[in-house]
Amino acid sequence: MKTLRYLLGDQLNHQHSWFDTVDDDVIYHMAEMRQETDYVLHHIQKVVAFFTAMRLFADRLENAGHTVIYYKLDDKRNQQDPVSNLSQLIKEHKIQKFEWQAPDEVRLDDQMRAFAKALSIDTQGYDTEHFLTKRDELAKIYEGKKRMTMEYFYREMRRKYDILMLNEKQPEGGKWNFDHANRNRWDEKTPIPPELSSERDVTDILKLLEEQKVKTFGRIKGEKFDWPLTYEEARETLDYFNENLLEHFGTFQDAMHTDQQYLYHSRISFAMNAKIISPLEIVRRVVNYYDQNKPRIDIAQVEGYVRQIIGWREFMRGVYWKEMPAYEKLNKLDNKNKLPDFYWTGNTGMNCLKHCVNDSLDNAYAHHIQRLMVTGNYALLTMTDPDEVDAWYLGVYIDAIQWVELPNTRGMSQWADGGLVATKPYVSSGSYINKMSNYCKSCKYKVSKKKGEEDACPINSLYWNFLSEKGNYFKGNPRMNMVFRILDKMDNETLIAHQKRAQWVIEHPEEV
Ligand code: FAD
Ligand code: SF4
Repeated sequence: MKTLRYLLGDQLNHQHSWFDTVDDDVIYHMAEMRQETDYVLHHIQKVVAFFTAMRLFADRLENAGHTVIYYKLDDKRNQQDPVSNLSQLIKEHKIQKFEWQAPDEVRLDDQMRAFAKALSIDTQGYDTEHFLTKRDELAKIYEGKKRMTMEYFYREMRRKYDILMLNEKQPEGGKWNFDHANRNRWDEKTPIPPELSSERDVTDILKLLEEQKVKTFGRIKGEKFDWPLTYEEARETLDYFNENLLEHFGTFQDAMHTDQQYLYHSRISFAMNAKIISPLEIVRRVVNYYDQNKPRIDIAQVEGYVRQIIGWREFMRGVYWKEMPAYEKLNKLDNKNKLPDFYWTGNTGMNCLKHCVNDSLDNAYAHHIQRLMVTGNYALLTMTDPDEVDAWYLGVYIDAIQWVELPNTRGMSQWADGGLVATKPYVSSGSYINKMSNYCKSCKYKVSKKKGEEDACPINSLYWNFLSEKGNYFKGNPRMNMVFRILDKMDNETLIAHQKRAQWVIEHPEEV
């Protein structure tokens, strides 16, 4: 039967069962489209990464003998949205059956299902065969439970896939979670071997985007694009991580440094989110490496890594499908301020923000703690509208796809879901940033000043102002008792000074 199979830009899984056999009656279709470049303002590296990875994937399929119709952005046949492109192809090639893989975003899922429903030929949707859980599995696991905690879900995953288990019940190392061992500042001595760089020239795609007037932001070195974009490159990135970084991953997971953007992080999120490499393969390879390299690599390092992938990543996806579409509109703290312009330019006197925003603009990357405890912290402390925060996070990071961006940003970072994902709001004063980084050392503000003076760290004032303003939402949360005790004991004069300063900072972000 003449069949048309559609592949989205984040469905680059060459191990999918679709590709087990070559069938001359099957046509695969992929397209670079304005619908996808324009639904949010993207970082230039994100667009380049998707288009380049798609082209490389199409080549891979063709080399394996499959028939692929690939539309570049400027292809004359390209109508810039999947519905028009697919309708045309179905007519032109007298297609009898249409097949697609379930998109991971509600926006595209709705579009594909509506399209398939309206067709008069046979249609069939497939799983992407990528995740460890089904879309609705999280909802089933938590059925009848009051709260969804990631830890409970994570243990289920460890048991189900027999990952780092001594036996069916007991975790390796005697504990499920070694998070407490993951809170060190980088000592500036533990070596970080030079970054793996398999550089690629992407100037042709840059030229195309310019010609087609695609609006983007952020910076790129066109001749030296070094993100892993094929399965083989993702494997190399992972091998490099195992051999050079895993040993210290957990220890310095939360650390930040002015001269080291990646520290011990694996930079595998784009390849994983585009389905170029599977999460289970990553985790199995990392655990395997650990097994062969004990005790040089200890359990705290590997457990910390595994938890991010089979725990947080799958959990966030489950939350997304359980809570959407309402989730993308939640704003439980009723925050309404505008996101400061310096998120788009990097021009600010606050050294922590300057580094984290500029790292993001330079690399389309910041690691988890930079996203959560610097840019996310500042946006929440300044009570920024979560719609604006989401738009920035969805655009700026190379790995940002809504199913994973949204629960992390709106949920974990901005508490806009009222605590569905996080058990406490992730806010901190400058002390935390000072503890985990060297940013404060070269900042024009003094992190040690705590009374709202002009040269004091603005984040200190924003922190106390936020807690006093939003106290009603958080008092009674046992994880917040200690900070509220400190706030209650604060003398009125200091609190008023903090509030005044915070108000000024919120109203004059470009002058800070
Ligand atoms: P590593 O630190 O080496 O971790 C390994 C892998 O674990 C990552 O590749 C990622 O797949 C997974 N992981 C780690 N933390 C999380 C998490 N909280 N949720 C889901 N997966 C996780 N991750 C995205 O993939 N896309 C996003 O759009 C995204 N937005 C975020 C927004 C905010 C506000 C925050 C706080 C976090 C966000 N994250 C997002 C999670 C995390 O920051 C990135 O996955 C990580 O920085 C990617 O870099 P890495 O591959 O070097 O990760
Ligand atoms: Fe950031 Fe405050 Fe430290 Fe400056 S002093 S780097 S503003 S935390």
